[in-house]
Amino acid sequence: MSTIEIDEYVPNYNRECEVCGQSPVVQGKKDGKIVYRGTLCGPCTFGTAKALDVKWWNSDEEQE
Ligand SMILES: [Zn+2]
Repeated sequence: MSTIEIDEYVPNYNRECEVCGQSPVVQGKKDGKIVYRGTLCGPCTFGTAKALDVKWWNSDEEQE
C-alpha cells in the first residue's frame, strides 16, 4: 500500500460508499487541496466503527 500524505480528512456528503452505501465518504486534504478522493465511508476506509464519527478521522488518539 502506498501512503498518501494527508493534512486533514474531510467528508464528502455528495457521494455514497461503494461498499455499504453510507455517506459521507472520506476525502483527504493536503495544503488546502483535495488530494485523495475516496470512494469508501469512514468505517470502510479506516476499518473501525469509530470512524462513523467524522471528528475521529482527524484525531490522533483512539477514543472510547
Ligand atoms: Zn462503507
